[in-house]
Amino acid sequence: MSKNIKEMIADIEGEVLLTRGFIGKDQLSAKVMAAMATVPRDKFVPPELQALAFSNGPLMIGHGQTISQPYIVALMTDLLELTKESTVLEIGTGSGYQTAVLSLLAKKVYSVELISALAEAAKERLQNLNFTNIETHIGNGYEGWLEHAPYDAIIVTAAAAYIPPALTEQLKSGGKMVIPVGLPNMYQELLLITKDQQNTITTRSILGVAFVPLVQQAPMDA
Ligand code: SAH
Repeated sequence: MSKNIKEMIADIEGEVLLTRGFIGKDQLSAKVMAAMATVPRDKFVPPELQALAFSNGPLMIGHGQTISQPYIVALMTDLLELTKESTVLEIGTGSGYQTAVLSLLAKKVYSVELISALAEAAKERLQNLNFTNIETHIGNGYEGWLEHAPYDAIIVTAAAAYIPPALTEQLKSGGKMVIPVGLPNMYQELLLITKDQQNTITTRSILGVAFVPLVQQAPMDA
């Protein structure tokens, strides 16, 4: 039987407890969990995978890409400690699901996607669902999005081989970035990077993760 959104929330809470030793907490912020309970994940999942829309796992969204696992979406969002004043940069729009979750907790979300077909579909989906504080852009996330920088928070939803210098530069003093770093199809580490008021960078490793790669190339039509 397919799961509903309440069961998805319970599964996320269960995985948070299981991983408490890594993430250093027993529960994620109530605001983040409320956003997870609000965004209709089924609207971001292809028709043939509807039965799995509220399962706590990643799903294929076409073009070799995935919508991330709900637990990971919730955890990464929680690590950013967003407020209604936050301006967020997301790299890897994909389905737009993570974008929607962020948009409920922040002032504005700027999201960059490399594959134009995914970017366009996500833009239309987010508009149809009435998310109004999101701007999307087709581009290479390694370069960030300079026009709207600096950002209070940056989230990268694909695994980078290294921390892209442009992203660290585009992070505000006092800002936070979450990014999976490591080799494709190998062990990657989810890193939390903070930039303090003196612009000193601190990196904390949170958890082992598996993401699709952050591709090193110019935007493509697919
Ligand atoms: N947050 C998305 C995850 C999508 S998977 C979701 O939950 O649906 C990661 C996405 O990163 C893919 O859509 C992929 O095309 C995109 N991507 C990969 N390399 C990129 C790059 N260099 N710049 C921007 N986006 C990139």
